[in-house]
Amino acid sequence: MNRKLNVNVNQLPDNPYLLLTPGPLSTSKKVKAAMLRDWCTWDQDYNQLVQSIRGRLVQMATSHPEAYTSILMQGSGTFCVESVIGSVIPPSGKLLVLTNGAYGKRIAQMAEVLGIYTIVVDAGETKPVNVKQLEDMLKEDTSVTHLAVVHVETTTGMINPIADVAKVSKQYGKTLIVDAMSSFGGVPIDVAELDIDFLISSANKCIQGVPGFGIIIAKKETLYTCKGLARSLSLDLYDQWETMELSNGKWRYTSPTHTVRAFDQALQELEEEGGVTRRFERFTRNQQTLVEGMHKLGFQTLLPEELQSPIITAFLFPDSPVFSFEEFYVRMKEEGFVIYPGKITTAPTFRIGNIGDVHLEDIHRLLQGVENQLFWRTT
Ligand SMILES: *Cc1c(COP(=O)(O)O)cnc(C)c1O
Repeated sequence: MNRKLNVNVNQLPDNPYLLLTPGPLSTSKKVKAAMLRDWCTWDQDYNQLVQSIRGRLVQMATSHPEAYTSILMQGSGTFCVESVIGSVIPPSGKLLVLTNGAYGKRIAQMAEVLGIYTIVVDAGETKPVNVKQLEDMLKEDTSVTHLAVVHVETTTGMINPIADVAKVSKQYGKTLIVDAMSSFGGVPIDVAELDIDFLISSANKCIQGVPGFGIIIAKKETLYTCKGLARSLSLDLYDQWETMELSNGKWRYTSPTHTVRAFDQALQELEEEGGVTRRFERFTRNQQTLVEGMHKLGFQTLLPEELQSPIITAFLFPDSPVFSFEEFYVRMKEEGFVIYPGKITTAPTFRIGNIGDVHLEDIHRLLQGVENQLFWRTT
């Protein structure tokens, strides 16, 4: 399986800039090098690799791996969320979506497209999802069968109180779906401890692979009840799982082979770094250093520190008539950094991510790059 490629990764070209975006993000040269070969998809080598990846993902997700399985699904993160939403809620089911940003809203939107009876509990863009209100709703409306929530709302960088949501969900006997797209692999979470039924993430976020497929961690007991429920053929979660399980790592339809190779390397690098705990520490150091430095340069964060995840930070535009994000963006790109526009509707913001193959020295260089601008300061 490990027919190593004879390539000196240091000879690979450097990237023209560092991506400080929440995915696709900066990957290591070894991750990129893993894609320099074509591999066949139907033979044992490849299938064993897929099975190994699936097993390692479950190990990463919980200390009770026997109760869970994992499914890989083609497409970007949204496809995988849609696969879950469209495959696990029976026609008689009712979904409650907790929202506080664009990704929560997207779940509600896909449920609507799929014709699923859905109610939304919105907390606005700068507050955590409201667990008290959730509990009141569940008391009042006993017909809700499924809950969906985003762990880290990448719109703002907010980390939602997932353990509190999970507690209420369990207490009221609901099926819990968590979009952990931008946190899985970078923020410790144990799906069995929280009794999460479906957790969704993607190859190109905290695990630091390249885009092409997503990951669903599923509680077996719940997944087993989902046969035949899918509202889509290609996004049928149960069928994808059954094929992977029964055919020992086979995907239905073309699998993103290069991305899977890169992902295997990315997982290995996550393990070498010391696992999710160490990666969480690196991201946290990056994020704190970023915020301290930006404060010194006169920037304010959108969120208070206690609501802030270590994944991505939203900064308010400086209070200056001559500041323009477009100019700032272009100048920062020339400095070697790609930053991210804001996504909320209530305040002008831009975002800086610090996940990916990004280290403290990069953050220091970034801060120097920002200091070199400050063109909007009037003295
Ligand atoms: C990135 C992301 C997604 C998926 O977005 P894609 O563009 O489809 O990859 C979904 N939810 C959250 C919270 C995300 O950060």
